[in-house]
Amino acid sequence: MKLLVTGGAGFLGSHLCERLLGDGHDVLCVDNFFTGDKRNIAHLVGNPYFELQRHDVTFPLYVEVEQIYNLACPASPVHYQFDPVQTTKTSVHGAINMLGLAKRLKARILQASTSEVYGDPEVHPQTEDYWGRVNPIGIRSCYDEGKRCAETLFFDYHRQHGVDIKVMRIFNTYGPRMHPNDGRVVSNFIVQALRGEDISIYGSGQQTRSFCYVDDLIEGFVRMMNSEAGFTGPVNMGNPVEFTMLELAEKVLSLTGSKSGIIHKPLPNDDPRQRQPDITIARERLGWTPKVSLEDGLVETIAYFRRTLAG
Ligand code: NAD
Ligand code: UDP
Ligand code: UDP
Repeated sequence: MKLLVTGGAGFLGSHLCERLLGDGHDVLCVDNFFTGDKRNIAHLVGNPYFELQRHDVTFPLYVEVEQIYNLACPASPVHYQFDPVQTTKTSVHGAINMLGLAKRLKARILQASTSEVYGDPEVHPQTEDYWGRVNPIGIRSCYDEGKRCAETLFFDYHRQHGVDIKVMRIFNTYGPRMHPNDGRVVSNFIVQALRGEDISIYGSGQQTRSFCYVDDLIEGFVRMMNSEAGFTGPVNMGNPVEFTMLELAEKVLSLTGSKSGIIHKPLPNDDPRQRQPDITIARERLGWTPKVSLEDGLVETIAYFRRTLAG
């Protein structure tokens, strides 16, 4: 099949392109390189079934494909807050254009949504029927509300125009090719530990997250895209094992053998206190469950950052 991956030069997108090529598909990767990096896909260029197009999804795109994975959007707070207006445009105008494309082609389209649609949740663990608690005017809103509006557009194109949609809500995912400066906690802690700098914990470090290794998530993407007709989601995808940021720091220190200390910095505004996916639907409808433990995933990720920092 001929497939489109928007945001294909990013962290998740590059792993997805690689997987889809490996499965024998013809892959068109579209990216404006805002946070993506050509090095993430350099090893795919030259493969006759891989095509790269520099393009911003806030502008219309006329191509011919059979399935669309819509991942284009900066994902880390540092990057999505750099130009918040562009972040909202990417989610909203990007969704309209990709849904318009899907409608014209009668192609199936999958949206990479996020656990951020739940905001700072009062329901724990989060289930898909929870509507969330999101601040509409805060510094995270460009991302959270943009992604919520994108979900609205997906469901309205489905109801109004019969577009074949799949919506997946991704919880914190990590692994090789994370951007070293994107400020996300796993990359920050590993880079700090490898450089012998203090590990920066925001707030007390008692806030929690659940971390999914990238390979598990990519399997989830493929299963969701190829799930039975009419199963739209939204479906949560993430690893339900929950850790505090202090526990994460200790794991990174022990796995890197680093002598770094720990310092506390102020907690950013609207930082969710806890997050854990309920993945019952993904298990039952897709037979999907994450397999890689935090420890095993961190070992791979640390090895990647060791190579990157050395080079
Ligand atoms: P990333 O920043 O590495 O990748 C995003 C990619 O989109 C980059 O290559 C970037 O250049 C591209 N992009 C941004 N704006 C664009 C535009 N206007 N037009 C074309 N391309 C554009 O982030 P990621 O972690 O790989 O995230 C990929 C998707 O998954 C995002 O939609 C993100 O919201 C979602 N997601 C990721 C996580 C996670 O933990 N990594 C969690 C929830 C949701
Ligand atoms: N669009 C696109 N590629 C296509 C078809 C549509 O980028 O192959 C864009 C188009 O620019 C439009 C948007 O998708 O603004 C929404 O398309 P839709 O058909 O829903 O809306 P309309 O064209 O009626 O405004
Ligand atoms: N965090 C931290 N130190 C860092 C970076 C992040 O303690 O150097 C915390 C952050 O405040 C949040 C958690 O780690 O509570 C996860 O942050 P990240 O930006 O990775 O993801 P998100 O907040 O979007 O889940």
